[in-house]
Amino acid sequence: MHPLAQLDRRHVWHPFTQMRDWLRREPVVLVSGRGAMVRDARGREYLDANSSIWTNLHGHNHPKINAAIRRQLGKVAHTSALGLANEPAALLAAELVKVANPPGICDLRLTIDETNRRAGRKSPIANRKLEKVFFSDDGSTAVEVALKLAYEFARRTRGGKARPKFLSLAGAYHGDTVGAVSLGHIDLFHRACAGLLFKSEQVMSPYCYRCPFNRAKPERADAREYRRCNWECVGKVEQKFSAQKKRGNPFAAFVVEPLMQGAAGMIPQPAGWLRRVVEIARGHGGQIIADEVMTGFGRTGRNPESRIQNPESNLFASHHEGVQPDYLCLAKGLTGGYLPMAATLTTQKVFAAFLGEYGEFKTFFHGHSYTGNQLGASAALASLEILKSRASVKARARLEEVLHDELKSLWPLPQVGDIRQVGLVVGVELVKDWRTREPFDLRERAGIRVCEAMARHGVLTRPVGSVVVLMPPYCTTPAQARKMVGALREAIIETFRSPK
Ligand SMILES: *Cc1c(COP(=O)(O)O)cnc(C)c1O
Repeated sequence: MHPLAQLDRRHVWHPFTQMRDWLRREPVVLVSGRGAMVRDARGREYLDANSSIWTNLHGHNHPKINAAIRRQLGKVAHTSALGLANEPAALLAAELVKVANPPGICDLRLTIDETNRRAGRKSPIANRKLEKVFFSDDGSTAVEVALKLAYEFARRTRGGKARPKFLSLAGAYHGDTVGAVSLGHIDLFHRACAGLLFKSEQVMSPYCYRCPFNRAKPERADAREYRRCNWECVGKVEQKFSAQKKRGNPFAAFVVEPLMQGAAGMIPQPAGWLRRVVEIARGHGGQIIADEVMTGFGRTGRNPESRIQNPESNLFASHHEGVQPDYLCLAKGLTGGYLPMAATLTTQKVFAAFLGEYGEFKTFFHGHSYTGNQLGASAALASLEILKSRASVKARARLEEVLHDELKSLWPLPQVGDIRQVGLVVGVELVKDWRTREPFDLRERAGIRVCEAMARHGVLTRPVGSVVVLMPPYCTTPAQARKMVGALREAIIETFRSPK
C-alpha cells in the first residue's frame, strides 16, 4: 500500500463515509490534476466527473486562477474582515452584485398563475435587487447566514414576539451545520442529531419521476417530459402557506434549491414550478432563500426559454425562471473549486433592518475568522472572469449538448429509471426495473457499486443514494464527456450482470 494511503487510513476520518468500508480498501490518493483529469500517487489518471464534489468549474490547475492566487499570495494571504476591508473582497462583492442582477431581472413581474388567482391574489410582487454581500466559508455557512438574517428580518418587520418558521422541500439538503440541517429533510442524515434541531416545515418537491400525482406510466424519457398531473405540487405549497398564516405566524421564508435539488437526488423541477411557488410565497409575505450552492455559476446551463436573453443571466438558476430571491446563497463553485469561500447576497431592504444606533444592538452578530479571505476572493474574481468569457460560454453550451446526446445511450439499460439533465448537471436514477420504478434498498449500495466500477474505468464520481451524478468541469472535452458516460454505461452493465 502507498505510504500516503497508509497514513490516511491510520488517521483521517472521511466525511459521509462508513469508515469500516473505507478501511477495507486502499484509497485513491490524488496528487495532481489538469483540466478535467486528476492523477493519483501511483500515476493512474481519472476523469473528475463530479468536479470534486460539485466545486470545480474550469478544471484543475487553471493558469488564470493559479496566476490570480499567486499574485495575491505575493501581497497578503489573509486579513480579517472584522473591522477591516480588503482589495479582492471589495472587488468580488461588486462583481457578484453585477452578475447576480442581470439587466431586466428587477423589471420582471411574475405572471399570475391560476393557483394564485384562485387564492385571490392580484398583483405579483416585483423582484428586488441584490445589493449586499455577506462572506463566509462554505455552503452550510452561506445558508446559515441567510437563515439567521431571514429570521431576524421577519421578527423585526413583523414586530411580534412570534418565532418565525421556515418552509423547505422534502428531501432537501442545505448543509451540515445545525441550522442548515434543521432546514433539511433527509432522514438518514438528520436522525442522529434530531434532538439538536429546530423544527422546520416541509412540502413535497416536484419529483415528477416518483410523484404520487403523476398518472403517467414510466417511459424512456425524463419524467418531466411525459408527466400527467395538475400541478398538485404547487397546490401543496399554497396549502402550506395558507395553513401557516391561519396559525398567525406566516412563514419567514421558503428555502429552495432553484431548478434542481442536488443532494436530495438530483431532482429537477418542471418548467414553471419555481415561478409559481415564488409567487405564492411572496403573496403570503414570505421571503425566498435560494440555495444556489450547487446550481450557481452556470451549472444549470443555457436556458432557451429564459425570459432574459444574455449569457450573464444564465449564471444562476433562479434567473432562468425570472426569479430574484431575497437571499442568494453561493459557495461550491464560487472560487472555481479552489478555496473554501461562500457568499450570501441580499437586498438593501434586509440590510436596512439591521441598521441602528450602536446601543440598539441591531448589529448582525455573526462572522467567521476567514470571512472575506483574500486568496479566496482573488480566485473567485478570476473564476468569474473566465465564466463570462466567450470561450467558456461556448464550451458550456457544447458540453451540455454532448452530454444530452451521449446520455441517450443509457436508456436501453433496464436499471436506468430516469435520466435527469439540467444544463451541466446529470442524475441517473437506478432502479430494479424501469417498468416498475422499483427502487433499490440503500443497503444494496447500487449507486456506490456503480461508482466503484466507474473508478475502475478511470472515471470518478459519487452517487446520492441510487442516483449516479455526472457534473463535469466546464473544460471537459467532448471526448472526455463521452468517456464519462461510457464508463457509467459499462459500470451499470457490469454491476447488474446476473451471476452465471
Ligand atoms: C453542498 C451543498 C451545501 C453545503 O455546502 P458545504 O460547502 O458542503 O457546507 C448546501 N446546499 C447545497 C445545495 C449544496 O449542494
